[in-house]
Amino acid sequence: MEEAFLPSVSEELFKPLEVWFAEAGEKPYRFRQLLDWYFKRPEVANFQELANFPKALREKLEQNFAFLSLSLEEAKLAPDGSKKQTMLLRDGLVTETVTMPMEGHTTVCLSTQVGCPVGCRFCFSGRHGLKRNLTAGEMCDSLRCSLPASGAESLNLVIMGMGEPFYNYEALKKFLFICKEGFGIGSRRVTVSTVGVIAGIERFAADFPQMNLAVSLHAPIEELRKKLIPRAPSEIRELIPALKKYFAATKRLVTFEYAMIKGVNDSAKEAKELCALLSGFDCKINLIPLNDVPGGEFQPSAKETLERFVNYLKERDMNVTVRKSLGGTVGGACGQLADKRNN
Ligand code: SAH
Ligand code: SF4
Repeated sequence: MEEAFLPSVSEELFKPLEVWFAEAGEKPYRFRQLLDWYFKRPEVANFQELANFPKALREKLEQNFAFLSLSLEEAKLAPDGSKKQTMLLRDGLVTETVTMPMEGHTTVCLSTQVGCPVGCRFCFSGRHGLKRNLTAGEMCDSLRCSLPASGAESLNLVIMGMGEPFYNYEALKKFLFICKEGFGIGSRRVTVSTVGVIAGIERFAADFPQMNLAVSLHAPIEELRKKLIPRAPSEIRELIPALKKYFAATKRLVTFEYAMIKGVNDSAKEAKELCALLSGFDCKINLIPLNDVPGGEFQPSAKETLERFVNYLKERDMNVTVRKSLGGTVGGACGQLADKRNN
């Protein structure tokens, strides 16, 4: 039999908590006070620390709720200043986030699933398939445990950790709503990366037209993309028109992510095909130097190859950038998140 857990504070958009306050005959301001503790005091991790709550109320809350749906197990600091947080979920699985100091802001990278069903060949996160979706409450709690000392101000949020966010759309939607309304993160500071789930792209455009969308492309032609992403949710010929529609509806530039893999997708041929595919489409291309993954079958492109690829695109007026890889030494870089307890 599955173990039953008390609902956590952030579960289901704080609804059980709100209902409980009303039913227990507590003053409505107590609910708002508790939300303040949750959103503004991330260092507080249990009801006993709610200093302005009477002892009896703290105890009643403790009997009916868990303060968090996960516990921060470890925060590993890399020499580049980024930090990987490992969090234990209540069913024994693990979720990971990465906090990266940038110029003028901090970027937090969050996961949406435990494992991933897509299984891109260069990504460690999908090596063992999907274990389960994260709930919206677990995503809220994982963000809360990953906030820098400065809090949610000047924070950029990227949904680029473990899992395919648009395969967990309902929970993602609830979580993104809380990012705005609870944590106060501006929509323009949020980016969601998808491997190309078209139904999700359409819903995201309607629900969050001011947030940013990144799409993992990795190859300019279908045959090669299929080799790298055998269970890709869409083909390039459907994906590009869907993204053009997305741009027309939101006026937000799509970022294409392209991991540079030695001898696979990094030659002049692919550079040319990529230009042909994206010419006339106002978008950004973000090249990601391939990160090492355990037992990985691919190598990163040589520095000169990467430079040649970038120059080819720049000379043709493509809007191209190279992603700075952070967190590599602590297993926190793109594609590296995968705690062995999830296997
Ligand atoms: N599932 C989503 C979001 C998470 S992955 C997606 O695939 O878009 C975030 C980015 O890291 C994606 O662009 C992904 O393709 C890339 N990535 C995965 N493994 C990588 C690796 N070993 N090196 C570099 N980038 C990688
Ligand atoms: Fe899943 Fe994204 Fe990793 Fe592919 S790159 S396996 S879609 S997390």
